[in-house]
Amino acid sequence: MVKLIAGNWKMHGTSADLGEVRAIAARAGELGGRVEVALCVPATLIHRAAEAVPGFTIGAQDMHANEKGAHTGDLCASMLHDAGAGIVIVGHSERREAHGEADADVKAKAEAGLRAGLKVILCVGESLAEREAGRAVATVAAQVDASLPQGPVDGARFSLAYEPIWAIGTGRVAGCEDIEEMHAAIRARLVAAYGEAGRGVRILYGGSVKPGNAAEIFATPEVGGALVGGASLTAADFLPIVEAGA
Ligand code: 13P
Repeated sequence: MVKLIAGNWKMHGTSADLGEVRAIAARAGELGGRVEVALCVPATLIHRAAEAVPGFTIGAQDMHANEKGAHTGDLCASMLHDAGAGIVIVGHSERREAHGEADADVKAKAEAGLRAGLKVILCVGESLAEREAGRAVATVAAQVDASLPQGPVDGARFSLAYEPIWAIGTGRVAGCEDIEEMHAAIRARLVAAYGEAGRGVRILYGGSVKPGNAAEIFATPEVGGALVGGASLTAADFLPIVEAGA
């Protein structure tokens, strides 16, 4: 399966950074069907970025589960789609933690995103305390079970991202054995939920993915790509990761 390498710009990026978007999209285009690449930029940049790089996938980092309503400051899936987004991240740990998003909220967002025609990357991951208590796999498996959208799912449109919270922005990457163990556990949950179609859902790894460790992570069984934060902000950092996945 072709790997999906998605950048998550988080709260970084203005129109001054469109040159990076153009450079990343140009190289992704040259790599053709060997790798799938997306950049999830701040909502304010989606429209300009999508117009700057036709044919390349620009995405959003969150969405409201409802289609409209009295939700000041929120954006729904059809608005993101209308702005030019082709993909959306839901359930990132920074949203789960800072905005109190529960598994049921994440599931509703994933279902609404898919309904609106967006591709969806659904994030799960354990805290350091949960890992140190030996509960990493149980925690993530429970998150997966409670967050997965109602099936059937299409692996071309729906992906999971395993992002151990303690590896995000810390420079501390999970060991390949830990990634392999977790991705196998997630795969089992996907197959339990969706049957054979669950085998077609890519499981991305996220957490301090850098040019220097990407190849090793991508060689790990069941790693279907990466969700990249800090190292996705510039073409110089992101493109070696994209190339490692091609
Ligand atoms: P970093 O790559 O900066 O660790 O961030 C990972 C992440 O949270 C991507 O969603």
